[in-house]
Amino acid sequence: MRKAVVIGAGPAGLSAAEGLAQAGVKTHVYERMASPARKFLMAGRGGLNLTHSEDFERFLARYGEANEKLAPFLHAFGPEQLRAWCAELGQETFVGSSGRVFPKAFKASPLLRAWLRRLATREVEFHLRHRFLGFEQGKARFETPDGVKTIEADAFVLALGGASWPRLGSDGSWVEPLKNIGLTSTPLHPANCGFVVAWSQHMIEKCAGHTLKNIGLSVNGRSARGECVITRGGLEGGIVYAFSQDVGALIRAQKSPKIRIDLRPDVTVETLAARLARPRGKNSVSNFLRKAAHLDAAAVALLRESGPLPEDPAALAALIKSVPLAVRGVAGLERAISTAGGVIWDDLDENLMAKSVPGLFVAGEMLDWSAPTGGYLLTACFATGRAAGEAAARWLRTSG
Ligand SMILES: Cc1cc2nc3c(=O)[nH]c(=O)nc-3n(C[C@H](O)[C@H](O)[C@H](O)COP(=O)(O)OP(=O)(O)OC[C@H]3O[C@@H](n4cnc5c(N)ncnc54)[C@H](O)[C@@H]3O)c2cc1C
Repeated sequence: MRKAVVIGAGPAGLSAAEGLAQAGVKTHVYERMASPARKFLMAGRGGLNLTHSEDFERFLARYGEANEKLAPFLHAFGPEQLRAWCAELGQETFVGSSGRVFPKAFKASPLLRAWLRRLATREVEFHLRHRFLGFEQGKARFETPDGVKTIEADAFVLALGGASWPRLGSDGSWVEPLKNIGLTSTPLHPANCGFVVAWSQHMIEKCAGHTLKNIGLSVNGRSARGECVITRGGLEGGIVYAFSQDVGALIRAQKSPKIRIDLRPDVTVETLAARLARPRGKNSVSNFLRKAAHLDAAAVALLRESGPLPEDPAALAALIKSVPLAVRGVAGLERAISTAGGVIWDDLDENLMAKSVPGLFVAGEMLDWSAPTGGYLLTACFATGRAAGEAAARWLRTSG
């Protein structure tokens, strides 16, 4: 019986294993960590945003330049199929107010447990604590607790992830070994990362972990609305990630981006000024701002970070609508949500098989695409993983 090996047990690798096992192929999954899918579990911590419910054409456009390459895989296994697949595993999903899709359990662990149980019934075998080192004469080399091992297979699927949050397993160390077998990668760099801000000690102590809800963020005149979280080192969250590429590029070019936060995007500066012109009475400034401008303690603290608050209501209203933010940089790969760059499409055929190594397939975040947060990252990992697994199964049937 022909044997397939999947390397990397994240969402892409597990999807590939599922595609192979469903086609009746004996599948072995190798993973460097002591348990599978650590990043997937981490992704579930703040609410597992699996996919997005928006119109499919709009959904596809989120993948920017790579959207044409990803389209066939997302057509075959996109948002709808992913939601149906979750339901099959007993994890119904729901659409949040932003259009994002989450499992009802909100986290990743129940879905992962059900998935692993199902893979076990399909005889997918796991080999943990096996770190892939590269290929040698067609065999995969692994560092294991018992020394270096080489493994033979009739087909390989590589799903080794990007290089963000390396402590969860994926560190991009595959770039050089793959180059040696003819697979080129564009440089890996952080995508969807937080802003680094040197907060005052007061801000860190009182506001770290607090969410700034319904704010506007503008960078060099381009703006978006949403929410973000104040962290000890800066700001994180969807609205910040949306600008991280631009801000990172500007800072690398030693240009200072003009970043402004609108703490009350629903209210005009005139209305706000009129409310702030009312007598303050015996209220503290914070209390007054809470009542007159509906700013919570974290929003007031952010306002104060910019300097002394103006007495004049019109000037204060203008500041609330446009708080300057001194961003020192964007977080690096160790804290980025995802990785841009990866194995170039030209080195793969339309089934994600390496042109230089027949029988070797590549899937997930290690491919050269990038997308914003909103469920796009996981959907493309599931879609390319499944496509690579199914293509590997077809290849095993028709080759040799
Ligand atoms: C904090 C956080 C929150 C996120 N939230 C979301 C979200 O809500 N929605 C969303 O769409 N995306 C989210 N993401 C992104 C999403 O988790 C990733 O895009 C996705 O996990 C990538 O899947 P993958 O299978 O390609 O790679 P990975 O999940 O990185 O899996 C790759 C696997 O390969 C293993 N591996 C790596 N190198 C080796 C090696 N040399 N030998 C053996 N095994 C190896 C790794 O240990 C890992 O298990 C989040 C990411 C982070 C960090």
